[in-house]
Amino acid sequence: MKRVGIDLGGTNIAAGVVAENNKIIGTASIPTNLPKSAEAIADSICEAAMLAISNARISKDEIASIGIGTPGAVNSNGVVEFSSNLGFDNTPLKKLIEDRFLKPAFIENDANCAALGEKVAGSGKNTKDFIAVTLGTGVGGGIILDGKLLTGINGAAGEIGHMVIKPDGIPCPCGRNGCFEQYASTKALVRQAKDALTTDRAHISKMWEFIEDDPKNINGEIVFQAAHDGDEIALKVIDNFVEWLSLGIVNLINIFQPEGICIGGGIAAQGDFIIKPLIERVEAKRYTKKSAKQTRIYAATLGNDAGIIGAALLGE
Ligand SMILES: [Zn+2]
Repeated sequence: MKRVGIDLGGTNIAAGVVAENNKIIGTASIPTNLPKSAEAIADSICEAAMLAISNARISKDEIASIGIGTPGAVNSNGVVEFSSNLGFDNTPLKKLIEDRFLKPAFIENDANCAALGEKVAGSGKNTKDFIAVTLGTGVGGGIILDGKLLTGINGAAGEIGHMVIKPDGIPCPCGRNGCFEQYASTKALVRQAKDALTTDRAHISKMWEFIEDDPKNINGEIVFQAAHDGDEIALKVIDNFVEWLSLGIVNLINIFQPEGICIGGGIAAQGDFIIKPLIERVEAKRYTKKSAKQTRIYAATLGNDAGIIGAALLGE
């Protein structure tokens, strides 16, 4: 049987029909259009699911289940305990979807879904212990041990973005200071580039050209574009960024010693600037320098499909 996977985001709801071979055979995306009620979000999820089914040219009868990856903490009853972005507050999302879609529904945190997708159909294939790290607005994580997703007692395990790597560092919305995602997310990279440019305006940098002299225009792509051109400031910003990233990754390796860690999110595609130096820095820091077996670090391969495939697989 085929399954529907949903990647529920604050901007878009992405749906896909996943076939028995874990490949996506039909997709659809509709705007989330926040703010709106949980009931209205559930309606939109079902609308996106039906569109994906239609685009896959199959009937709903061929669908066994629907899985949804959502931001926030999801407990084992399919209740989203909270998600500030979507306004969920102890929202019974599983029930809302089953009442509407009339198929078994499974709900899980979105980063956990992405980890599951990469583990089964992407870069983590053939591993048993695997961690997926996603660099975006924040830093998401999903931890798979012995082939099973680590959820914790409340479904909130794997929030690696909120491990502190710099006490008294930058304040985080979670209430603490110096969380990993304040230093190693794409958003953090952009802030670091802006800081590097503006602390000394005399700095000569290609980036000034790309941003038309306005630091507000800076984005991750521009930093890497300048680095490709050999821009010293951009290279230094990326170098510092990778150092922060390595601190969190080494913590994960020292605790879990997984077979593989994949790095996802748009900037993970910048292999020579991110993955390669990250591996070097991790090798210099990890506890198990002398072990014959070492955790491998590589870029995620499924991109945005990981969340959809992982969500669909929840029903297996
Ligand atoms: Zn935090």
